[in-house]
Amino acid sequence: MYIAIGLYCLSLLCQVFASLISLSLFRHSVTIYRWGWLFLATGLGLMIGRRIGPIFHIFESGRFDLLDAILSLPISGFLLLGVLGLRKLIIKSDNNQLMLETLAQHDPLTNSLSRTEILYRVSEEIERSRRNKHSFALLEMDIDHFKDVNDQLGHHVGDEVLINLVRQSQEVLRSIDTVGRIGGEEFLILLPETDATGAAQIAERLREHIANTANETSSSSSIKITISIGGTIFNPNENMEYKQDILLNELLNQADLAMYQAKNEGRNRVAFWGASTPPLKRARY
Ligand code: GH3
Ligand code: MG
Ligand code: MG
Repeated sequence: MYIAIGLYCLSLLCQVFASLISLSLFRHSVTIYRWGWLFLATGLGLMIGRRIGPIFHIFESGRFDLLDAILSLPISGFLLLGVLGLRKLIIKSDNNQLMLETLAQHDPLTNSLSRTEILYRVSEEIERSRRNKHSFALLEMDIDHFKDVNDQLGHHVGDEVLINLVRQSQEVLRSIDTVGRIGGEEFLILLPETDATGAAQIAERLREHIANTANETSSSSSIKITISIGGTIFNPNENMEYKQDILLNELLNQADLAMYQAKNEGRNRVAFWGASTPPLKRARY
């Protein structure tokens, strides 16, 4: 009799665990298959009754079915093992999904945002800015005479300089600002909720920081680089009638033109797009 009670209690424990695990997966999953976990948790929860019933029956009548008690343990045990296996599979697939998303969103060399991701964030910011009526700024940054670094010290040192540039930029930017690599040594910087004065201060602080910071690389020569920055401000009140993709292209063109103005004015400087920005070079967007 005690063997039968022990077997039923063990299988009861397995089922309680299996249904609790399914319930926690339902609560923590965000994907479409989360409802599957709720159905499984409910089914397993209801089956707990099938394990408690015989225990009551033994205490009431003293009679029991030993075969049923023996079979209950592997049934409940396998259910628990199955739920544990599925849980492991889902955690692994969620991690893989996260890894793929991270890889797609980031530039593998500098770990700044990828071109696709920064452009997506800028278009999102256009929408947010229109909703909340906040202006924002977009900066384009390009290293001055970067070819010389590659030619004199090698491409791998050039790569290290690019990695340092992103890290050093993040040192002076705010936590809400984002940097994305849009080309070889060209980067976009999104400054949310920033007006013209704020953007000019941030851009100047960034230019100065890069110009004054030495680059730690594998090369024995000390390397200092300078950057040219072109900026533009998005004002939601002036742009109500245009579509988002038109505005995105317009902003990229403006930042690009301002950056070429900074280059033409002698490099290592900041220029903002405005009525006076000459069409120095055909923009590339
Ligand atoms: P400017 O002041 O006019 O910008 O001069 P620049 O020499 O920087 O000219 P440009 O911006 O056209 O140079 C781009 C150079 O950047 C060419 C290429 O050798 C280098 N480059 C592009 N992508 C990479 C990269 O991933 N790694 C390294 N090391 N160099 C790169
Ligand atoms: Mg360039
Ligand atoms: Mg350059």
